[in-house]
Amino acid sequence: MPSSTECPKCQGKMSDGVIVDAGHGQSIISHWLPAPIKVSRWWGLKVRKKDVIPTVTLRCTRCGFLESYAPPTP
Ligand SMILES: [Zn+2]
Repeated sequence: MPSSTECPKCQGKMSDGVIVDAGHGQSIISHWLPAPIKVSRWWGLKVRKKDVIPTVTLRCTRCGFLESYAPPTP
């Protein structure tokens, strides 16, 4: 995770948050998945649960710049 909460673009203040994917009547947090991405013809992405990392995203309150992290899981 970043030690600084200053925007690299405009030096504004970065605030914590997440990117939310909305669909099928629910909202979920975006996750990071390592390459190579395997796509199944019938079932969409093949995902191994242990490989998937929830992301956190900082947003600049001045210019709106987004900076995402997939921090190590314990
Ligand atoms: Zn900024």
